[in-house]
Amino acid sequence: MGSQENSGERVYRGTGAAGGVVHARLLLLGQPHRDIPHRSIGAEETGSELKRFQQALVETRHQIQDIQRRVTAAMGAAEGGIFDAHLMTLDDPTIVDEVTRGIRDKRVNAEHVVQQVIQRYASALAAVEDEYLRERAADIRDIGSRLLNNLMGVAGESELSRLTEPVVIIAHDLAPSVTAVLDRSKVLGFATDAGGVTSHTAIMARKLKIPAVVGLGNVTHQVYSGEYALLDGHGGSLVINPTDATLFQYGQMRERRAAFDERLRDLRDQLAVTFDGHRITLAANIDEPGDYIDAKKSGAEGVGLFRTEFLFLKASEPPDEDTQYAAYRAVAEQAAPAGVVIRTLDLGGDKMFPDSSREANPFLGWRAIRISLSNPEQFRIQLRAVLRASAHGVVKLMYPMISSLDELLEANRILEECRGELRKLGQKFDEKMEVGMMIEIPSAALIADRLAPHVDFFSLGTNDLTQYTLAVDRLNERVAHLHQPGHPAILRLIQLTVEAARPHGCWVGVCGEAAGDPAYIPLFIGLGVDELSATPAVIPEAKFLVRRLKLSEAKALAAAALQCSRAEEVRALSVAVSKKAAPELFPNGTN
Ligand code: PEP
Ligand code: MG
Repeated sequence: MGSQENSGERVYRGTGAAGGVVHARLLLLGQPHRDIPHRSIGAEETGSELKRFQQALVETRHQIQDIQRRVTAAMGAAEGGIFDAHLMTLDDPTIVDEVTRGIRDKRVNAEHVVQQVIQRYASALAAVEDEYLRERAADIRDIGSRLLNNLMGVAGESELSRLTEPVVIIAHDLAPSVTAVLDRSKVLGFATDAGGVTSHTAIMARKLKIPAVVGLGNVTHQVYSGEYALLDGHGGSLVINPTDATLFQYGQMRERRAAFDERLRDLRDQLAVTFDGHRITLAANIDEPGDYIDAKKSGAEGVGLFRTEFLFLKASEPPDEDTQYAAYRAVAEQAAPAGVVIRTLDLGGDKMFPDSSREANPFLGWRAIRISLSNPEQFRIQLRAVLRASAHGVVKLMYPMISSLDELLEANRILEECRGELRKLGQKFDEKMEVGMMIEIPSAALIADRLAPHVDFFSLGTNDLTQYTLAVDRLNERVAHLHQPGHPAILRLIQLTVEAARPHGCWVGVCGEAAGDPAYIPLFIGLGVDELSATPAVIPEAKFLVRRLKLSEAKALAAAALQCSRAEEVRALSVAVSKKAAPELFPNGTN
């Protein structure tokens, strides 16, 4: 984060979490309650004080349940599920008991004890290394703040409900419960000190299409409510007291963007073919069948990654074969004649049930294919559901997190047994269904030549491949700058994969976030990748770029990049090719 002063203008840089540019007064939110009453109470008052605390708990529970209902109705059960963690915190007997004891033993008022207990828990959690637990600190603060509001008779989100003019909200870490109820007509955007692009808040911002910038450091200590700010959710900056020149510049940018969006819409039904005629498949990443609507609107050609784990995370128990079959079939039918790559369960890492036991290193632990192979009955259910869905469209099956030949052979063996079971039952399925695997562990890329004879395709998961190759936690904002998919080590692994695939007639895709990033698209095409699969929101720009690139230039870029020693050099070379082909994607020289 940085700030520069120029005739009163201050610029703070963070990470763009949801695109768009807005200009409005700032409203600083979530400031710690400054005037918490602190008074001693007599023995005869403890009963009524405890009752007040119990009432506040009940009110808080109702408020959160209400928000959860609204979020679920508006955004789906997965987003609504975020509030389960809040409700669990509220039920946490340790916190409730501690407040109760505090009131009874110390003979002080409920507000004071609640504030102390919450602060102690939140600070302890905020200090731990574990990203998941650190995020829980925000949940606890959110609960504490609601409890205090209810105890003191202050309406929840009082500032927000009294808004009379449009604002940009600034907060240390906007809680999902607040994000979910933001009034879109008044709250034009928001910016936070904390968080990375994978925080719940950032995820909600993208779904709600509210421009947002996160990871601004300690910006809340440097700005004031009432100051005018310009928030750039694309570029990831917050400009306080923007000068007329800056406003003019951004105004022009906004106009250009609106005109550009029109042009992008026209590309919806066009193919992703390079300027010199090289065909790429540009597919969508989805989490559930409902996401296909956005994928289709974005102009995606089928689905390159269906992350099936969300079907499991949303449900109270694992979906049975028929439920899974219905979900897979729905996408296969909608996506036809294009295909859908259905990835078997990739639970583990950061995608775990809230009540499951935590591992010390979840990304290196019991995850994805490891869970499936150690629980073959569940795996079989999923494989049979995918096979049955293959009778209704172009379905391809993909295994996640394969690290060795044995894992791949074992998965294929179980798949073959499932085919046999279905044949016996007379159930239809596509006998030629393609089977592939993710390349997201360096060991898999390094032995890709041994794996290729047993699959039809490889899909490079650059999110994990980068994490595991460079030893950079993909969720940790403190090392986010080191998560570089253009690192020469990653390039070599991609090259190895492509070269190993070719002799066996395997196609190669990329389905990590970098697949939709204009900074890396020419590089992947030049390295010989056949398919790019990305989140629907970025597909129109990706297609615009692909159609302006030349394969010959992309190949020359890849050759030059493979000679580089540093990630930054690689990125700069690739960005230069993208900028030359599609300068519209780099307004104001952003890269
Ligand atoms: C990846 O690792 O790049 C990938 C696409 O898988 P996920 O993000 O689901 O781990
Ligand atoms: Mg992955």
